Amino acid sequence: MRRKPVFVDVDEQTCTMDASQLEAAITLRTRAIIPVHLYGQMADMEAILAVAKRHGLPVVEDACQAHGARRGGRIAGSAGVTGCFSFYPGKNLGAFGEGGGITTNDSEIATKMQVLRDHGQSKKYHHSVVGWNARMDGIQGAILSIKLRHLAEGNRARRAHAALYDRLLADEPLAILPTVASASEHVYHIYAVRVPIATRFWPR
Ligand SMILES: *Cc1c(COP(=O)(O)O)cnc(C)c1O
Repeated sequence: MRRKPVFVDVDEQTCTMDASQLEAAITLRTRAIIPVHLYGQMADMEAILAVAKRHGLPVVEDACQAHGARRGGRIAGSAGVTGCFSFYPGKNLGAFGEGGGITTNDSEIATKMQVLRDHGQSKKYHHSVVGWNARMDGIQGAILSIKLRHLAEGNRARRAHAALYDRLLADEPLAILPTVASASEHVYHIYAVRVPIATRFWPR
């Protein structure tokens, strides 16, 4: 069966999934809900999880920009059935090459992921399913385990820099600055400044 992604628009303030538009996008064919914690701020997981629960759907968090972000007592990657992290060098927690990780508190999913990443191999030379070569190099794990200790400190510095940008750009009429939702701890993977569509300023 073909899988078709269906988009749910974002809340204009936070640029993360607008939970109030989620329900209308769900059909009998919906298999999972994938909110993206964009720019370093978690989506409104409380509202999203409530919709997911009503429909019996799993939530997979794209936490690739949100290492260490929190919202409403939850930390990114702990709210859904799985959380997906990228350790691409430019991320808040970055390896020295390609890398990624999945969090879950479901042991069945954990085992399935371990099999899939290793050519579907459940034990040596026993290939129970068709998987991928998605094993992260040990050297990346070694680097990440050291850098992980500095993640909170790095995120604190990002928040301090964001607060400075907020102050310096506060009076800039064309700049729409990032909004931090209530009870949300943004980790500012990206400090995104929006400006209005510019036809008014650069007429054709
Ligand atoms: C970086 C990123 C990804 C993909 O990460 P890769 O390590 O390149 O696979 C996915 N989603 C978001 C939101 C990202 O920022």
